[in-house]
Amino acid sequence: MAKIILAGFKGSMGQKALKMIADTPEFDLVGVYSPSANQSATSYGLAEEVAVFNQLDQVKLAADIWLDFTTPSAVYQNTRFAIEHGLHPVVGTTGLSDEQEQELIELSQKQGLGGLIAPNFGLSAVLLMQFAQKAAQYFPDVEIIEMHHEDKKDAPSGTALMTAKMIDEVRPEHEQGHSKETLAGVRGGDYNGIRVHAVRLPGYIAHEEVLFGGPGEGLTIRQDSFDRASFMQGVKLAINKVDQLDQLTIGLEKIL
Ligand code: NAP
Repeated sequence: MAKIILAGFKGSMGQKALKMIADTPEFDLVGVYSPSANQSATSYGLAEEVAVFNQLDQVKLAADIWLDFTTPSAVYQNTRFAIEHGLHPVVGTTGLSDEQEQELIELSQKQGLGGLIAPNFGLSAVLLMQFAQKAAQYFPDVEIIEMHHEDKKDAPSGTALMTAKMIDEVRPEHEQGHSKETLAGVRGGDYNGIRVHAVRLPGYIAHEEVLFGGPGEGLTIRQDSFDRASFMQGVKLAINKVDQLDQLTIGLEKIL
């Protein structure tokens, strides 16, 4: 039985995670955390024995897993807290910088504690990144377009950034496109020469396209998350496997 503390339980992903935990017999929700939580567990529709916290330093509970779907501004502190308290972090929140990820990995190594940060728990997104990495060996001219709901706090998405990093690992050194911008920013962000474009629109959930161009041909790889429930299979897998990891690890593909 995995005892779980869920951070960000009131948010869109938090609500899906609550349902997934309730539907999984081997998972036991022991606590929830949100700075704005000010009611009892039952008033949030949770079992009476679930502890509700609104301050990080008050979270004192015997548990195995810290599941985090919060905000880019909170995720570093939360994950650090989890590692320091011997809770395996399973983190879906995006927005950690490379330096912050590295610090957290080093801390997990010192503690000998496994954990997983996945910018995308959706299988279609993980496969998209792998296919894109493969294609980039043959098509160095590539641009990434990510499309999300209008309330998303960070841009680009963690998935788009991870896609760019994975492409960058295999793509030959390459400059592409020489247009002079007559509208600032119109060519998108630049990750080592790979252009990344972020679209924010109501009605969207999470979508990504990777466009490759070559002489006389093009290749487009696209994935769509139509419902946040799609992320929960990956979350479940991570919770089940995280204690087999010996340090904080980045990317769902590492445990597939
Ligand atoms: P959301 O609906 O805005 O929910 C965020 C939650 O975080 C809210 O409940 C909020 O509490 C809480 N929160 C705010 N400040 C906090 C703090 N300092 N400490 C702890 N909790 C805090 O966002 P969402 O759509 O659920 O997304 C959450 C995160 O998951 C985002 O970073 C998003 O990019 C990421 N995400 C990841 C995946 C994946 O597969 N890895 C998929 C989708 C989304 P209040 O309600 O009290 O303000």
